[in-house]
Amino acid sequence: MANEGVRRKSANPLVNRFGQYRSEGIVTEVDMVTASLRRIRIHSKEFTERAYVPGQHVRVEIMDPLSLHGILRPGETLRTYTVRDHAPERAEFELWAHLYDGDGIGLTWARTVEVGSPVRLWGPQGRSEPYPEAPYHLFVGEETGACSFAPLLSALGPDARTFGVLESECPDDDVPIEGLGRVIRVHREGASAVDSDLLATAVADLDLPEEPGHAYVAGEARSGQRVRTHLVEERGWPREAVLVKAFWTPGKKGLHH
Ligand SMILES: Cc1cc2nc3c(=O)[nH]c(=O)nc-3n(C[C@H](O)[C@H](O)[C@H](O)COP(=O)(O)OP(=O)(O)OC[C@H]3O[C@@H](n4cnc5c(N)ncnc54)[C@H](O)[C@@H]3O)c2cc1C
Repeated sequence: MANEGVRRKSANPLVNRFGQYRSEGIVTEVDMVTASLRRIRIHSKEFTERAYVPGQHVRVEIMDPLSLHGILRPGETLRTYTVRDHAPERAEFELWAHLYDGDGIGLTWARTVEVGSPVRLWGPQGRSEPYPEAPYHLFVGEETGACSFAPLLSALGPDARTFGVLESECPDDDVPIEGLGRVIRVHREGASAVDSDLLATAVADLDLPEEPGHAYVAGEARSGQRVRTHLVEERGWPREAVLVKAFWTPGKKGLHH
């Protein structure tokens, strides 16, 4: 398999400089977790042997960013998914991809990839600092954000006090999450996920301890900002206690951090 191989020097200096962050993988399992969430399990010894911190992500190469085509169209190259179930002992990890109603290149890849498909991976990438300590932790997000909570929860451990507010299109799309304490689910039922006030309203209704905790808010950018505004301006939380991760937003392609 390619990921066991030795990298050859390329004529393209960019490939030699950045190619070291790439690895080859092969899809070993695919199935549906919910009506709109596809689980994609990938074997890659090279990727899983690299340093990894829970919460980090993989960038799936849809088109080579170091090719002429990729340099001319950088928005059409890499797509970001949270690394889940990272298992270096089996040389495997998985990602969960939300099959939203659209036509992005990441969405098309996630919809159509099959067992045996080769996949080129960049990373793991993202924050490498330990998750902040706090009296309690609040996790807020829609389908894409919810895919990123499980690794952070497992890093926090079973004794952490946690709360969750999760949005999805309808109950059939609820992202399963183990290890989250009190969970409130809200449903769009046809409304847009963009600049949604469902999450902020549900967080406002949440019975939280008096003192601030730490919040991780992930998913559509403007909906996340609404949650931060509520926590900071209405509950008096310090701004730095609210981490908003913009996973996607209209007009932007392939967001990453
Ligand atoms: C750090 C990080 C971790 C992420 N982890 C995950 C993950 O584990 N699982 C997951 O499913 N996604 C995850 N995402 C989000 C995912 O990368 C984006 O949804 C991405 O835009 C998908 O690429 P695309 O090619 O389908 O769409 P793009 O080409 O990037 O965007 C095309 C259009 O589709 C819109 N769009 C993109 N995503 C959505 C959506 N979910 N709903 C509605 N409209 C959308 C965009 O706003 C844009 O207008 C993560 C993002 C980041 C930054």
